[in-house]
Amino acid sequence: QEEQILQSEKLSTVGQLAAGIAHEIRNPLTAINGFMKLLRTSDHNKELYFEIIESELKRIEFIVNELLILSKPQASHTSKSLNILPILEHVITLMNVQAALNNIEIIPLFTMTPIWIAGDINQLKQAFINLLKNAMEAMNYGGTIRITVYCNAYEVQIAVQDEGIGMSPEQIKSLGQPFYSTKDKGTGLGFMITQNIIHNHGGTIAVESVLQQGTTFIVTLPIIAEIEE
Ligand code: ADP
Ligand code: MG
Repeated sequence: QEEQILQSEKLSTVGQLAAGIAHEIRNPLTAINGFMKLLRTSDHNKELYFEIIESELKRIEFIVNELLILSKPQASHTSKSLNILPILEHVITLMNVQAALNNIEIIPLFTMTPIWIAGDINQLKQAFINLLKNAMEAMNYGGTIRITVYCNAYEVQIAVQDEGIGMSPEQIKSLGQPFYSTKDKGTGLGFMITQNIIHNHGGTIAVESVLQQGTTFIVTLPIIAEIEE
């Protein structure tokens, strides 16, 4: 079954996002505070405490970096005519090293006949990198990620299909909520960023998933007839 993720349902209000940010950053701050106090009062375990503080600081940095991506200018301000296929190829090249290390093969299933869309190249790359990262992180035992492209007169559909752990219907419902993550080191922002970028490009994103079998994300974007300079 295919579930269309509705913008109105899933996009967070500023308040929801702010509460999430506060919560996510308060935890590492509390930890840093605690270990700083310990460092002041005792000479034991200094190395360990410094390590923890360092990793908690990294966590804050990571969250802030993801938030900065969310706050980048919207696609309309930086929109250009783009062939989507080299963008996908570039993203695959970027992710292939990490994939190979995890016994994962990324298979592009498309020809290179240009497909033109209007958009921001860096944002689109970011959107597909996030989808591929999630696909890879869902596949603990390796496997195959297939990237398929279909096109008609109006739109292009890009499907990213993994053989990972899949998602339950409840998990699918939570997708797109800020800070929703099932991972120890997840930020729960990656999918929301992807969703925002695709919506800003006039597109939609849908998901099909079966637990223990895999997940397919389908991005649909409007195409433009010819190159507009
Ligand atoms: P993060 O990756 O930091 O956890 P995301 O926003 O990228 O945050 O994803 C949110 C959650 O959605 C993940 O923690 C995971 O539970 C689920 N998810 C996203 N993509 C997939 C996928 N391809 N397979 C299984 N679960 C996924
Ligand atoms: Mg992610």
